[in-house]
Amino acid sequence: MTNQDKILMDKIVQLKQEKSVYIIAHYYQRAEIQDIADFVGDSYAMAVAARNSPLDTILVAGVDFMAESAAILCPGKTVLSPEPMATCPMANSIKADDVLKFKAKYPNSIIVSYVNTPAEIKAVTDICCTSSNAAKILEKLPENARIYFIPDQNLAINVSNKLGRIVNFYDSYCPIHNALTKASMVKLKEQHPEAEVLVHPECKPEVVKLADYVGSTAGIINYISNSDHDSFIIATECGILHPIQQANPDKKLILASEEMICPNMKSITLDKILYSLENLTTIITVPEDIRIPAARALKKMIDYAS
Ligand code: SF4
Repeated sequence: MTNQDKILMDKIVQLKQEKSVYIIAHYYQRAEIQDIADFVGDSYAMAVAARNSPLDTILVAGVDFMAESAAILCPGKTVLSPEPMATCPMANSIKADDVLKFKAKYPNSIIVSYVNTPAEIKAVTDICCTSSNAAKILEKLPENARIYFIPDQNLAINVSNKLGRIVNFYDSYCPIHNALTKASMVKLKEQHPEAEVLVHPECKPEVVKLADYVGSTAGIINYISNSDHDSFIIATECGILHPIQQANPDKKLILASEEMICPNMKSITLDKILYSLENLTTIITVPEDIRIPAARALKKMIDYAS
């Protein structure tokens, strides 16, 4: 962390107090951004934290669908994004028409959408899920229901394998997690036989099969904090190393690939957060005809997962 970072962080901390802004950040954010946030979590915890925010203005340090989720769940609050162009290619890969066509073909199907989707997709969804609660939610759906899981094929297949349940899925993926190969993981395991392997379910199924533990970012953090092991190979975005190392300074963390960096998450910087606080921009809103059905799908997820 540079001196300039520290100056910016001090300014942000002072300004967020003066302007009563609650900052929520994702674990994939830069370390210095996690350090100035009031709450850091995975996308599920961020949605709940936004809903429970003690302040009326929320700044979301994460990609666009995360700020949208906060706006969907908190219609009476002001939601700010420090970088509205920070987006998720997987979330943008599916269109509402794709979902409506499936629904028209199978009217009794249940549309389960990962929270990594735009508001328009959530609005045509029956229930949302995150990587931390996807299995729990699918388990609660009727056994004979036809499920259309969108948009992450890896998460869909991994949950399907875990539950032994057939799901239809859309063929998209996170480019960061999907790029991790079985061959590179096998090699890493050979180099570090003492390390436990922890894998995010957005990775390919053949990579997930090599894991000692499969879970969301929050799940991986909890696993390490509660483990007697000393070293871990971690297969998810590099931002997660910061909270783990803070909570477990003596443990050895090996990132599965140096390329596991999400450029969209990292496009948010301290400068942009400071600008956002100074000018109270960019305000994220969702039209009511989309917000109301999208909120229904998100609230259903929170109810089913809690
Ligand atoms: S890590 Fe993957 S899923 Fe998450 S925002 Fe980046 S591209 Fe999207």
